[in-house]
Amino acid sequence: MKTPDRVTITDVGPRDGLQNESRAIPLDQKVALINALSETGLTRIETTSFVSPRAIPQMANAAEVMAGIRRCPGVTYIGLVPNEVGARDAIEARVDEIAVVVSASESHNRANVNRTIAESLEGIRGIASLSREAGIPWSGYISTAFGCPYEGPVEAARVMEIAERLRDTGAEAIALGDTIGIANPRQVSEIVGRLFERLPDTPLRLHFHDTRGMALANVIAAMGAGASQFDGSVGGLGGCPYAPGASGNVATEDLVAMLHAMGVATGVRLEALLEAAWLAEEIVGRPLDGRVKRALPRPTAGQRATQADYVP
Ligand code: MG
Repeated sequence: MKTPDRVTITDVGPRDGLQNESRAIPLDQKVALINALSETGLTRIETTSFVSPRAIPQMANAAEVMAGIRRCPGVTYIGLVPNEVGARDAIEARVDEIAVVVSASESHNRANVNRTIAESLEGIRGIASLSREAGIPWSGYISTAFGCPYEGPVEAARVMEIAERLRDTGAEAIALGDTIGIANPRQVSEIVGRLFERLPDTPLRLHFHDTRGMALANVIAAMGAGASQFDGSVGGLGGCPYAPGASGNVATEDLVAMLHAMGVATGVRLEALLEAAWLAEEIVGRPLDGRVKRALPRPTAGQRATQADYVP
């Protein structure tokens, strides 16, 4: 079986996860979650989104979040930005990296940002030049890359074309998002393989959702096709509590536990990550989808779990 020696993980819980919570999460709890993640050995954390508070009230205090966290050396704190206003705010808040998003399907892009894909790509050029001036790298997410809730199947050629445009605009990396959790391992293997052929020098990240229980299978398929960078969300944060079955990103701790069991290094301390996952459950006030933490009792105060407790 083809696996990389090492995988780099981006935890998107504080942004992609908390953004989907309907209840307002207090600033200090967001900061506490990011600080907990910073102590796990993760090197990449998607921290917040610099969007209009009218569009997404949950992300209203992006600058305060960035100002409030304890930055660990070696950790890249990423801010999502939808436009040039957001990019300016993100740069001012001293994010280490900017993420931008465009959908692979017109209907989803329209529903998401009320723009055509061409208009979004044009907007990204503006963000790219601001990032370049500030000396901050940016990466481009292609959402609905494996299927769209409105249009169904998405042409792989379309994904390649958008990825190439993003690369030509200066993206340091491309991320493919399975926004509705519809990807299957064969499709992932094909698209990842084609993308590496087309853009061999551009780092690729995969962002899988576990809506249909296929996220980890898709990770295996992507590794087989050469991928070594994945997104996860601590605890599995990101499911909508009012839409049964609409689960979020693959839980980072499940991803890490699987990779470690397979002998693939991540640099993450699983026991510290589980602590962060339990904290995430406390913050949202309900059990989250992550499996590994469900298989284990949370250590009581004074007890310290070790990684050996978690690895089968
Ligand atoms: Mg997501």
